[in-house]
Amino acid sequence: MEHYIFVKNFRKEIFTGTCLDLSSEGKGVVKYQDTIVFVDGLFIGEKADIEILYYRAGVAFGKVIKLYTLSKERIQPRCKVCTACGGCQFQQLQYSEQLKYKKNKVYNDLVRIGHLKDFTINDTIGMDNPYNYRNKIQVPVGYNFKHQIISGFYREKSHEIIPIDECFIEDVRAAKIVKTIKELMPSFKISPYNEDNGVGLLRHILVRTSYYKKEVMVVLVMSKDGFVGSSNFVKELISKCPEVTTIVLNVNSRHTNVVLGEKEKVLYGKGFIEDILCGLTFRISSKSFYQINPLQCEKLYSKALEFAHLNKDETLLDAYSGIGTIGLIAAKDCKNVISVEIVKEATQDGIRNAKANNISNIKFINGDATEYIMKAKTNNNKIDCVFLDPPRNGSTPEFLNSVLSLKPKKVIYISCEPSTLARDLSILASNYEVMVVQPVDMFPMTFHVETVVALVLKK
Ligand code: SAH
Repeated sequence: MEHYIFVKNFRKEIFTGTCLDLSSEGKGVVKYQDTIVFVDGLFIGEKADIEILYYRAGVAFGKVIKLYTLSKERIQPRCKVCTACGGCQFQQLQYSEQLKYKKNKVYNDLVRIGHLKDFTINDTIGMDNPYNYRNKIQVPVGYNFKHQIISGFYREKSHEIIPIDECFIEDVRAAKIVKTIKELMPSFKISPYNEDNGVGLLRHILVRTSYYKKEVMVVLVMSKDGFVGSSNFVKELISKCPEVTTIVLNVNSRHTNVVLGEKEKVLYGKGFIEDILCGLTFRISSKSFYQINPLQCEKLYSKALEFAHLNKDETLLDAYSGIGTIGLIAAKDCKNVISVEIVKEATQDGIRNAKANNISNIKFINGDATEYIMKAKTNNNKIDCVFLDPPRNGSTPEFLNSVLSLKPKKVIYISCEPSTLARDLSILASNYEVMVVQPVDMFPMTFHVETVVALVLKK
């Protein structure tokens, strides 16, 4: 956990500066005297009047007051609140530039943090239509100052809800469902939950959509159990939004930033949705991790499989496997797969997914990937290829050192955070050669980038 001191800038400090670069979080980088200032929505070469808002850990954060010159890469954003919301840093930047930025970001991290040299990095694989790709949305609900029910996103680094009725990176089905729920809330006496005093019922609305199967899951996250009138609410919602195939009530009574609670009740339908990925059917429950951009995910997995070049004698370890997607897709190309995942529900989904797709050469282990591979090392198990796809904070030194001693011929690292990818590759680089680095744009309009890296054993 990082601890920074935020110092609000009470003096009105305004200066004129030119954007020199884009930071790893997609902010414009401007120099002001000896200070680096990060500015939202300012692109390379643009000159602006900038107000400093606050200081943190020796750097400053500012906002544009007046723009003097516009980058030729700047475009009109589709979303009116894109600068306030903080979810999209790049709605105003041409898509081709976004793809270049992402390739550079991965390259720079691998060189500066990972100390890698002489590796091949491909151009970022982008989308033909880089909008409306998100298959999962979760929005907090609250009141505005007129006591109207609103939903949207939290303002960056705050818990203030910015009302948003249409988000251009979400699946188009989600907005209408959220709007309908908000309209139904008063007549069913569902009040929005207030984080400060703990009063109110509905905390978040979650919508998950499947791309190929056209199924839609709604999760109502409530502060307590006992939703009086739930069956009539369900009837109303389904009649207004017949595209909804299942509704789940999730109870989260804790004072926490975590959206979902432990307890769940299916109010309508089967309690999960299914989608198709690389020809296989996957079951997705409310808590399971599932890649949020289905079209790009297929491209990502295809690259991973192409790089792995598996054969029928090989054992594959799919670490941090989620609901087993990539391992199941790879199973037809190898002898067997061991899939390791820490979330119980995701492992259970994986087991069901294997059955539903008639795949029998895969074993699911619910547990910590590091613990598993350390045991495999002690037992000297045969593993020919490792896929690892850890969360943003990356893997552990113990996991990576176990890979070094187990010596699988190939390692395919899938990462959503270049800086931790670079840190982890610097450990693997002692005995693995980086063959190719492939950035994939899973998150258009944002600074985030997914990367798949192919490594082969040196000796
Ligand atoms: N490979 C999957 C999931 C990737 S997301 C896919 O492409 O869909 C990362 C996954 O790692 C999540 O499902 C998360 O629950 C899991 N995870 C996080 N920490 C873990 C750990 N220590 N051991 C095993 N799995 C872990």
